[in-house]
Formats: sequence, structure tokens, C-alpha cells
Amino acid sequence: PQQSSADLVRDNTTLTPDFPQPGILFRDLSPLFANADAFRQVVEQLAEPFAGRFDLVAGAEARGFVLAAGVAIATGKGALPLRKPGKLPPPVLSESYSLEYGDASLQLTEGLIPPARVLLIDDVLATGGTLAAARRLLERAGHEVVGVAVVIELPELKGRARISDLEAHALLSE
Ligand code: AMP
Repeated sequence: PQQSSADLVRDNTTLTPDFPQPGILFRDLSPLFANADAFRQVVEQLAEPFAGRFDLVAGAEARGFVLAAGVAIATGKGALPLRKPGKLPPPVLSESYSLEYGDASLQLTEGLIPPARVLLIDDVLATGGTLAAARRLLERAGHEVVGVAVVIELPELKGRARISDLEAHALLSE
């Protein structure tokens, strides 16, 4: 029998306490990326609720790139990498957001492609700051964000509230 998506994710994720800071239980999806069957199933399951409703798949540097590229290939769509500052040549649009310590930004080339329906992907939905910034960036670039799909949601951090008007799916929520 096929494993449920939650079990598949749980069985292919490492949990590391107090990394990168005390109090954080770090979830690493590297075992999942290295497992061909698990990786394929996960990218298909991320896209499935949004089938027929998106033209492009966006992910934030760096772990979002792996998943967004996989979803794009699996669904026959293009991928839109959202970059960290200093990586893309001008002209760029930027969106800043705050992390536990300090600030971060994401950038996208201005006028890169015509407006599209975009599915936004990430590995972990924690506070939601990253996905909220990614969403603002995509909308400023003229795109419609049709929804968010993540592998793992940490519901106690209430990240979903930061993107509450978007349809959001998680394969594992705990
Ligand atoms: P967020 O607080 O939702 O903006 O999360 C910031 C980024 O850090 C996201 O792209 C997540 O991939 C990553 N992240 C946050 N918390 C964890 C965690 N416990 N384990 C692994 N990655 C995390």
C-alpha cells in the first residue's frame, strides 16, 4: 500500500534540536530529495490540489528552488526562482521581511515575464514571513498567486495567518 503523504514526509526528514539556534527543532528534507520515489511523490502531491490552476511554480532561495523545480518539471510548467539580494542583475523588485534575528529580502527581475498564475512552494512554513514576502514580490511583479504548497507546516507558529487569504496546503502539519 502507498504511504500517506504525512508518513512519507516524516520518514524522509531529519529532526535536529537546537539548530541553527537554541530552541529551534530543525527539519531537513535532504533525505527526501535523495529518495527518488519519495521526491517524485512529494512534488506530485504539492501540485495536486492546484491542478489546472497555475502556469508557473515559484520558490525562494535556496531550499524552495529544489522543490519548485521538481514541481515545475512534474507538471509541465516553468519555474520562477525568487533570489536573495545581490544575485540578480538590475532591474529588480525587492521585498524585505524579518526573521528571528535580523532582516532578509527576496528579489525578482522586473518585467521578466508576462503576468501569470503562480503556485508558491516552500519546504517549511514556520512564521510565514518568507512566504508572505514572496507573495508580495510576485504580486508587485503583476502575477496572481493562486496558492501556497509546503511540505511541512509548523502550526504552533501560526504562519498561515500571515497568508490567510491564500489557499494553503501542507503535506505534514505538526
Ligand atoms: P518563516 O518563519 O516561515 O519565514 O521560515 C523561514 C524559512 O526558514 C523558511 O523558508 C523555512 O524553510 C525555514 N525554516 C523555518 N523554521 C524551520 C525549521 N524548524 N526547520 C527547517 N527550516 C525552517
